[in-house]
Amino acid sequence: MRDAPSAAADAFTAAYGTAPEGVWRAPGRLNLIGEHTDHNDGLVLPFALPLGVSVAAARRDDGVIEVRSLQMGGKAVTAPASGGPITAEGWPAADAWAAYPIGVARVLYGSGTGGASLVIDSDLPRGAGLSSSAALECATALALADLYGIGLDRAELARLARRAEHEHAGVPCGPMDQAASLLCTAGHALMLDCRSGLSAQVPFSPADAGLTVLAIDTRVSHALTGGGYAARRHECAEAASLLGVEALRDVKDLPAALRALRDPVLRRRVQHVVTENHRVEAAVGLLRAGAAAELGALLSASHMSLRDQFEVSWPEADAALDAALRAGARGGRMVGAGFGGSVLVLTAADRAGTVREAVRNAYDLRGWTPPAFIEAAPSAGAHRVA
Ligand code: ADP
Ligand code: MG
Repeated sequence: MRDAPSAAADAFTAAYGTAPEGVWRAPGRLNLIGEHTDHNDGLVLPFALPLGVSVAAARRDDGVIEVRSLQMGGKAVTAPASGGPITAEGWPAADAWAAYPIGVARVLYGSGTGGASLVIDSDLPRGAGLSSSAALECATALALADLYGIGLDRAELARLARRAEHEHAGVPCGPMDQAASLLCTAGHALMLDCRSGLSAQVPFSPADAGLTVLAIDTRVSHALTGGGYAARRHECAEAASLLGVEALRDVKDLPAALRALRDPVLRRRVQHVVTENHRVEAAVGLLRAGAAAELGALLSASHMSLRDQFEVSWPEADAALDAALRAGARGGRMVGAGFGGSVLVLTAADRAGTVREAVRNAYDLRGWTPPAFIEAAPSAGAHRVA
């Protein structure tokens, strides 16, 4: 991660005339495999990106939380840490982003935090499916916990950050994003069981295996498209209820489950979730065996399942992946809930340039906004940088 010098610290000093007490940084994440398994109590396998959100922070004794974001014009939004109205010109529409850090402060307030001034800076694209919201929450949570000496472990902080997103930002997210941001370690992916909350580090160093993972921002923002995610969640819950299981993770006999469902749409949803959970286990097996290059076929199978069975892919993702595979990439898939966001591609490192070029050309031919590429090396989880 780009640790120092920090634009957030400089902006903090400019705003308050004094240096911050510290700077904390939390990464975005890319989910290697395990899509739409989270809300079915299943397995996911994210790793931390080299990009993230930095928060320069200092305590204040008036009990007020004051937040600024360099990406949102640097205007201050204030609120009592204990609850009550949030004030800024244009709230809530223009400054809805402040619900994330202020929500975290409010969720942590009961543990003994108080007021703080926070200046946020980020090199993570927003709404690209790389989890900028959780990076913002987790950088804030770690900053406040450190500043106030709150002895919560990282798994607990992740749960609280998730609660802030539910209760204050109104987004019913699963547990993956906050767990990834706080628990991931460099050179590893994190296998997370979304039912038990238990996690394990799985070695994943693409560069050591002569591989590159590219995150391709398809330039279709998932924030601009509504409804589809809620519909899929509902379909999965309905299928689980019809099958008499707590969650689709519990389906052990796939052919029997498919025979039991009359609705072809629900059958397709179940087919995806059950096979995707197995693909996560297979991916963990390959990584533990030191065979990361073999992940390609699993990634592409995941994409086809998301496209054809779960029906959440989008044309820009299909085109990016198709072009990458034709250029010799080992495999890849759409990441995130769908209908927009990013595509992950696994390629031999020495083909990465050719793959990028092919994807760029495919977009160019169709007259689409050029895609953006991030080289996604498995990086450190949230930490204090200054
Ligand atoms: P994702 O988490 O995939 O990037 P979300 O829609 O969950 O997409 O979260 C994006 C939201 O997080 C933004 O709309 C904004 O409210 C907030 N956010 C992310 N980064 C920043 C930032 N640097 N400054 C202020 N708010 C941010
Ligand atoms: Mg998010």
